[in-house]
Amino acid sequence: MTELLANHVAGRWQSGSGAGTPLFDPVLGTELVRVDATGLDLPGAFSFAREQGGQALRALTYRQRAGLLGAIVKVLQANRDAYYEIATANSGTVKNDSAVDIDGAIFTLGQYAKWGDALGDVRALRDGEAARLGKEPLFQSQHLQVPTHGVALFINAFNFPSWGLWEKAAPALLSGVPVIVKPATATAWLTQRMVKDVVDAGVLPAGALSVICGSSAGLMDQLQPFDVVSFTGSTDTAALIRSHDAVARRSVRVNIEADSLNSALLLPGAAPGSEAFGLLVREVVREMTVKAGQKCTAIRRILVPAELYDAAAEAIAAKLAGVSVGNPRNEGVRMGSLVSRAQLAAVREGLDALAAQTQVLHDGRDRPLVDADPAVAACIGPVLLGARDADAARQVHDIEVFGPVATLLPYRDTAHAFALAHRGQGSLVTSLYGADETALAQAAVELAASHGRVHVITPEVAQAQTGHGNVMPMSLHGGPGRAGGGAELGGLRALDFYHRRSAVQAGNGVLAALGL
Ligand code: NAP
Repeated sequence: MTELLANHVAGRWQSGSGAGTPLFDPVLGTELVRVDATGLDLPGAFSFAREQGGQALRALTYRQRAGLLGAIVKVLQANRDAYYEIATANSGTVKNDSAVDIDGAIFTLGQYAKWGDALGDVRALRDGEAARLGKEPLFQSQHLQVPTHGVALFINAFNFPSWGLWEKAAPALLSGVPVIVKPATATAWLTQRMVKDVVDAGVLPAGALSVICGSSAGLMDQLQPFDVVSFTGSTDTAALIRSHDAVARRSVRVNIEADSLNSALLLPGAAPGSEAFGLLVREVVREMTVKAGQKCTAIRRILVPAELYDAAAEAIAAKLAGVSVGNPRNEGVRMGSLVSRAQLAAVREGLDALAAQTQVLHDGRDRPLVDADPAVAACIGPVLLGARDADAARQVHDIEVFGPVATLLPYRDTAHAFALAHRGQGSLVTSLYGADETALAQAAVELAASHGRVHVITPEVAQAQTGHGNVMPMSLHGGPGRAGGGAELGGLRALDFYHRRSAVQAGNGVLAALGL
C-alpha cells in the first residue's frame, strides 16, 4: 500500500479514516500516494483556523506578516528539489513546466513579501482621503480596509498544485486571513508536501495554514458570513459553488477562476516573415506546449488576417512538428504528459467535438512517444486545428479543450477580429502582435472590456515580454463572464478580497487616532 497523506487541520496532522484515493504517475501508470479526508471534524477544523489562526495573524502588522511570507519563501527554496521530483512523478511535467508552477509560486510569494513590507507596521489600511460630511470639515467620513474575521477556503484546480496555492495564500496571509486549501485530488501531493514543509518549519502561527486532501464533501457547508471562498476549476463546479447556501444565503464572498477561450491576434499589416508574424508563431507554439496546454491562460484561438491563414498554418505546424513528446525524465522530451488518462480522454473527446467544424492542420496524435508506452501514458502530441469560416465554427468559441490544442481562425478586418475575440464571452487574456503602436493601443482598449489582461507584443519588447500565458503577480489575473468574473493578483489589489471596507464617520481627533 502506498503512503496515505495526512491532512493538517485544527493544528494537527490527521489521517482520514477511509482507504484513500490513489494518485498516479500519468506517464508510468504507477500508484504514488493516497489521499483521504473521511471522518475529519470539519466544523472543528474551520473554527480553529477562524479563531486561533485568524486572531494570531491579525495581531501582527502588515510588515510582520510580510516577514512570514519571506520565511515561507526560504522553506520552499530549501525543499525545491523534492517539489520538482513530485511534479515530474505526479503531473508528468518536464522541468521547465514544473518551474512555472514551483518557481512561479516562490516568485509570487517573494513579491508579496516585498509589497507587504512597504505597508508598514499598521493593522488597518487607509482607503482614500477623508471626505467632509457637512459644510465645515468637522465631521468627516474616512474609509478604511480591515482584514475579514474569517477563513479563506481555496478549492483549487489540478494544473497548478503549487502556484495555485501560493498565489492565493500570499495575499490572504498578508491580509491576516487564515487559509484552508483543498487541492484537486489528482495532484494534491505537491500542495500537501509544501504545506507540510511550511507547517513543520514552524514559521506560521497555529491555524494559519491548513490542508484537506480528498473529497470536497462538506467543505462549503462550513462557511460563515465573514469567510471567503476562492475557487479555480471548471464552469460546472463553479456553478455548484455559486449556488451553495453559503454564497446564496450567507453572502460568503466568492472568487471564481473558471475556463477561458483565450485568443492571440495578429493585427493587419504583418507579412509572413515579418517580426510580428514570427513572434505570434513562436508564442502560439509555446502556449500550446507548455504544461501540455493545461494552462487556463493558454492560447486556444489564433486570429490572423484571412490572407495570412495558409502561411500561419504552415509556420505553426512546422514548429509543432519539432516538439518531442513523452516521458519528462528523458532530456530529449520537450512536452510531458497530461495529468491523467481521464484528462487524456477529455482532450480526445474535445477534439472529436470540434472535428465537424474544423480541419486538422497539424496532427501530433499519431507521432511516436519518447520513452513512454502509449497504452499507459497520458501523453498526446499537439494538434493545430483550423476553420476557414471563423463565424460558422461556433464550437471553437465555446469548447475549451484543456490540452495541447488550438484553432487557427481567419478574420476579414479588425472589427471582425474584435468580434471573434469577444466571442470567448469573457477571457483571462488575449495577446496582440504587430508593429503599429497606435493600432495596438486601440485594440488593447477595445479588448480590455472582455479580457482581464491584454498582452501586447511589438518587436521592441520581444525579449523583455513575460509571455502570453505567464501570470505575473503585478498584473490582474481573472476575466469577466465565462472566465469566472474573478480578480486575483494585480499587486496589492489582491488584498481587497480578504478585507472589509468600512466608512468611519467621526470628528478629526478620532480619525487621527485611527493611526492610518
Ligand atoms: P474541477 O473538476 O472543477 O475541479 C476543481 C476543484 O473543485 C477540485 O479541487 C475538485 O476536487 C473540486 N470539486 C469538485 N467537485 C466539487 C464540489 N461539488 N464542491 C466543491 N468542490 C468540488 O476542475 P479541474 O478539472 O481540476 O480543473 C480544470 C479546469 O480549471 C479547466 O477548465 C481550467 O480552465 C480551469 N482553470 C482555471 C484557472 C484560472 O485561473 N482561471 C486556472 C487553472 C484551471 P477533486 O479534484 O477532488 O474532484
